[in-house]
Amino acid sequence: VAESSQPHTAVIASPGLGHVIPLLEFAKRLVSNYGIRVSFLSISTNEASTALDKLLHSPTLPHGLDVVDLPPVDVSAVTSDDIPVLTRLCAIVEESLKSLKSVLLEIGKPKAMVIDLFCTQAFQVCNELSIQTYSFCTPSVSFFTFALYLPTLDREVEGEFIDLPEPIEIPGCSPVRPEDLLDQVRDRKIDEYKWFLLHISRLPLASGIFLNSWEELEPVPLKAIREHPFFLQIPTPPIYAIGPLTKQDETLSASEEECMAWLDKQPPDSVLFVALGSGGTLTAEQLTEMAWGLELSQQRFIWVVRKPSDASAYATFFNVGSDVNDPKAYLPEGFLGRIQGVGMVLQSWAPQVAILRHPSTGGFLSHCGWNSSLESISGGVPMIAWPLYAEQKMNAAMLTEDIGVAVKPVMEPGKKVIRREEIERVARLVMEGEEGNVMRHRVKELKDGAYRALDEVGSSYNSFAYVVRQWKKADN
Ligand code: UDP
Repeated sequence: VAESSQPHTAVIASPGLGHVIPLLEFAKRLVSNYGIRVSFLSISTNEASTALDKLLHSPTLPHGLDVVDLPPVDVSAVTSDDIPVLTRLCAIVEESLKSLKSVLLEIGKPKAMVIDLFCTQAFQVCNELSIQTYSFCTPSVSFFTFALYLPTLDREVEGEFIDLPEPIEIPGCSPVRPEDLLDQVRDRKIDEYKWFLLHISRLPLASGIFLNSWEELEPVPLKAIREHPFFLQIPTPPIYAIGPLTKQDETLSASEEECMAWLDKQPPDSVLFVALGSGGTLTAEQLTEMAWGLELSQQRFIWVVRKPSDASAYATFFNVGSDVNDPKAYLPEGFLGRIQGVGMVLQSWAPQVAILRHPSTGGFLSHCGWNSSLESISGGVPMIAWPLYAEQKMNAAMLTEDIGVAVKPVMEPGKKVIRREEIERVARLVMEGEEGNVMRHRVKELKDGAYRALDEVGSSYNSFAYVVRQWKKADN
């Protein structure tokens, strides 16, 4: 079949680094590996995010990838800490996508469009313009099966899901304990749940769904989607497991270069990296315990610190890198002096992928965002699971119980913080214990599998190439 030379596609991500990073990586590969022209539609607001700006205006973006800023949305009406993260995000997307139709016409109607989970207003617009629309699921396949099952659950269950006496049985998949359910479905009466259900219910409208995972990592839910009668009768659109797509190149600032130089001098697998994604923040009390726990563990560490917040666990989600941050003001007195030579503290942001790939990094205390989890596995680094928000508790359960690459610290009953002694214990366990060795061995196996999946004969490579071939067919 004849191939059109350079088909044009559009990609759009919801706000937040955890959405933009994988979709931008996807777009880069379309351009660099397949010669597809991509317009990356960026949802911008009047709130600054240094980390986001750096990413979208990086000089390393390939020729053929154009970042198109949609008209900025004024977020002042939705920036209060009382408004849950997804409600904020969806309100911003709703406003921003009012310009979608005119922007798509302006950039010359693309052949296909790839949208993030929470940008489903695009289905209607693209339908009017006869543009095929694909969805890109930034979380795990397990999350995706839960999402596909949610409309059924919503019809069948009365009352709150978190009050269910038994784990929720997703057809053909591992059950989900009510306490591990994602924040967005813990209170069905609030707007955040309604937004979530609305977007998720539209998933079957997609021409296909890209999943950022691979066959060997999540064989059970992938098999369920392909074979279980429940998913077949939805019907579920074709799925393409194309991961792990993780950030490839990072432009380092001077202080980040310094951090990498320090890492170069440390022994193999000896440094614990502590970072809580783009939004994650600790309460003041928990931050103090974390500092003491790390110090007591006597492990080498790199810790990305942010001003504590007692109001929210994702205080920097929308403005990461631009947050006010003076570690001396909130770390325990004398901490920075005592950890000299052993620990490094970075403010707000770190070159996470470079750190996780470095041979000196031997553990990752992470909030278990899906991108962070993929980056840790791709770096062959075992984890300490410290879930904070969104679907991170589900990810933590999978990483600790199903995959066996993480340990979860225990919070004492009735307490609001994980104590310093417990942090010390898990840090030692991962970095020097026998259990840590077993996890390290397992994660290195998965890392090799990830590289094989992305290889030119691998499953993820083939799935990606298959869709691109469809797009390139001139008569498609
Ligand atoms: N990240 C980073 N440096 C940081 C914190 C986060 O580079 O200091 C990147 C990280 O590598 C990942 C993304 O930000 O690619 C966070 O995505 P994830 O899904 O883990 O969590 P979210 O931020 O969406 O909660």
